Amino acid sequence: MSKYWNERVHNLDPYVPGEQPKDRRYIKLNTNENPYPPAPGVLQAIKDAADDQLRLYPDPNEDELRAALAAHYNIQSDNIFVGNGSDEVLAFSFMTFFSPDRPVMFADITYSFYKVFANLCELQPAIIPLNDNFEIPVEAFCEQSGGAVIPNPNAPTGREIPVQAIRKILEADPDRVVIIDEAYVNFGGETVIPLIKDYPNLLVVHTLSKYSALAGIRVGYAFGDPGLIQGLNRLKNSINSYTIDRLALAGAKAAIEEDDYYSQMAQRVIRTRENTVKSLDEMGFSIIPSRANFIFITHPDYPAEDLFHKLRTRGILVRYFSQSRISDYLRVSIGTDEEMKQFVQTMRELL
Ligand code: PMP
Repeated sequence: MSKYWNERVHNLDPYVPGEQPKDRRYIKLNTNENPYPPAPGVLQAIKDAADDQLRLYPDPNEDELRAALAAHYNIQSDNIFVGNGSDEVLAFSFMTFFSPDRPVMFADITYSFYKVFANLCELQPAIIPLNDNFEIPVEAFCEQSGGAVIPNPNAPTGREIPVQAIRKILEADPDRVVIIDEAYVNFGGETVIPLIKDYPNLLVVHTLSKYSALAGIRVGYAFGDPGLIQGLNRLKNSINSYTIDRLALAGAKAAIEEDDYYSQMAQRVIRTRENTVKSLDEMGFSIIPSRANFIFITHPDYPAEDLFHKLRTRGILVRYFSQSRISDYLRVSIGTDEEMKQFVQTMRELL
């Protein structure tokens, strides 16, 4: 390998995704997937798309999918970018909108892939610490920077900031792009997609992996001013014309038409979340108030790492982060009622 290549690879800091065990018997509460299946209409659409047309390339512009999304969100097709999962949308956005000259802001703690993207693009991160209650300090995000990325609700805390706070951050500097990552917004949060009409510096990122129960087909979106979307398309078309395959296009389009099903499933997840919080609270856990499909929990008497290993031995996977500030916490995705009953029961036995 050339010296340049050697150093480049050496300096990358790849993300380590949560475990995807081959053994299906695990109760899997570690990667925030939806515990319910995709809508039947979505599965049918994917099956129907598995025909001889698969010998042809998919539509590189995702026209039908973007038209359906535009109608659903009451925006225009040129407000929409489609990517291979929102991780790809985020990676492309970091490459397109942020420059090594000016720092890009994100919180500590937040979705840990942002640091990886920043490193990949050789950007300087401006790390904004959460306050003691794990809230996003809105004032700090209004300071000067070359851009900002905020998940709302935040991960792994589940805390949300209000729309008014996002307006303030957008208005603080109209020349920098602010990315609001709404991966978990459909579990009780409020979307800022309608704000893209007022703020040309706003990019809202969505995923089908959580609310739409389609982590396995890899589709994510960005919504924003046509200027931003054109930028993303120029970058994408310099890398890969066909990021979304035919099966994914069919499934994603059908998912838009199945919103009734998905919103009922999300209501179930929210109810289960609140019941789980109540039980854990009675057991002495502190739980950060969550608007997402996961909870962030700590117990004063039992180290999180220990609980993580004991749960795993008993067939329950949750997420433990060794980073110092959150090493007392576990992130627990919300499963079905039955799975969460088993989780709570196992915790009772462990304490
Ligand atoms: N944003 C946040 C905040 C996430 O937690 C995740 C999932 N780990 C993603 C984006 C990426 O989701 P996907 O690539 O599956 O769309």
